[in-house]
Amino acid sequence: MSQPVVTSINPATGETLQTFTPLGQSDLDAAIERADTEFRSWRLTGFTKRARLMHKAADVLEANKTAFARTMTLEMGKPLSEAISEVEKCELVCRHYADHAEEYLKDEVIKTEARKAYVRNLPVGAVLAVMPWNFPFWQVFRFAAPTLMAGNVGLLKHASNVWGSAMNIEKVFREAGFPEGCFQTLLIGSKAVEGVIRDPRVKAVTLTGSGPAGRSVAGIAGEETKPSLLELGGSDAFIVMPSADLDKAVDTAVTSRTRNNGQSCIAAKRFFVHADIYDAFTEAFVARIEALRIGDPLLETTDIGPLATETIRDELADQVEATLKGGAKRISTPVKVADTGWWFAPQVLAEAPDGTPGADEEMFGPVANVWRVASLSDAISRANRSVYGLGSAIFTQDDGEIEQAVRDLEAGSTFVNALVASDPRLPFGGIKQSGYGRELAADGIKAFVNRKTVSIS
Ligand code: NAP
Repeated sequence: MSQPVVTSINPATGETLQTFTPLGQSDLDAAIERADTEFRSWRLTGFTKRARLMHKAADVLEANKTAFARTMTLEMGKPLSEAISEVEKCELVCRHYADHAEEYLKDEVIKTEARKAYVRNLPVGAVLAVMPWNFPFWQVFRFAAPTLMAGNVGLLKHASNVWGSAMNIEKVFREAGFPEGCFQTLLIGSKAVEGVIRDPRVKAVTLTGSGPAGRSVAGIAGEETKPSLLELGGSDAFIVMPSADLDKAVDTAVTSRTRNNGQSCIAAKRFFVHADIYDAFTEAFVARIEALRIGDPLLETTDIGPLATETIRDELADQVEATLKGGAKRISTPVKVADTGWWFAPQVLAEAPDGTPGADEEMFGPVANVWRVASLSDAISRANRSVYGLGSAIFTQDDGEIEQAVRDLEAGSTFVNALVASDPRLPFGGIKQSGYGRELAADGIKAFVNRKTVSIS
């Protein structure tokens, strides 16, 4: 019987780049055993050594950034310049946790009647990370850097279309000098995830991806009484009020909606614009969207590459068609795109009625939905109709409006007059169907630790 294979396909051309053979059961078992064995000594390794290795990992990223970025671009289509920035951000998160892990995890002293009482943050063991293809490096490093610095060990199940990047990530940790069992890439499909979660040697699971995958993984973790963290989809609201700096709002709106070829969980996807500035905003926004340069993602002149897979392209086309059929208007003229590869022209839809995908679903590609709103309360109440609650943004100079948005928008973050972005120094995560738990900053490193209570009398 022939071995099953997994292929990386270049979405710009539809050509096969590389084929991989998934791990068999005995190799998978051996990898989990290596992780479990390594954990026993890694948990006792001091912060100084962990930090030295983590800085080394950042050095390896720096030294290889163009090569790593190129593999990402070839496998999932993001513009090369964005892929290079992604590797640079991974360097940053490695250095951030190398420098701050000890402080984040230090004993937390609490005054009681006892001689001494405190909380000590102890590692728990092997953590499985199920990761998506859209930021093939960043999603993994924002998990791996805090996980390893906390004294846990990591197992990566990466999306099946980016296994070249998955192998590169394992290489980074090996070249940096981390012991083999500290971080391993498991070349497995999604069907093999259940067995790994149920394995007693695996102590926790984190998933970044779609709702169905998240619910499945969290359900299994729940049955096993293991902690889980979910970073799922989003349909972020972007509100523009009359006092906004319009140029900045338009500029940020275009970047937010089209970065990473429009395939970002925290992209602004629904734009609520006050009636007083609606015409000025949409005119400038549409002109900028129409002017984007679509083409070979390896070229510096390219703003937008192809979508990552044929399925994603087809699903987005279906969502746009259903939204238009449901009563929305297309207010931009999409450029003509190539037939070969998974291309999709950026476009702007207006006034999608409730019940259409433009209003109710996540559109994972360069399609913006805009609505004219009468007031901030109107914008917020429409924004909150979404089942998601990941990021949100408001452009205004009015302190009262800022306060109202911070208080009332149902989202894991609200950015004011700025692009919603992840940052190693800020906690990141969602509410509602965007998931639970927080990554990055101090929260991220405490996601999977045993916060042991100690009381000494
Ligand atoms: P996906 O289909 O859920 O895949 C994500 C990962 O889960 C992949 O490794 C996939 O493996 C695996 N997977 C899929 N179904 C599974 C199952 N039933 N059991 C176990 N594992 C399973 O998501 P995607 O299409 O790659 O990613 C896009 C989604 O991720 C969007 O909704 C986006 O908003 C979200 N996202 C969220 C964040 C965040 O921080 N909140 C960040 C980035 C992306 P295979 O590839 O082998 O199927």
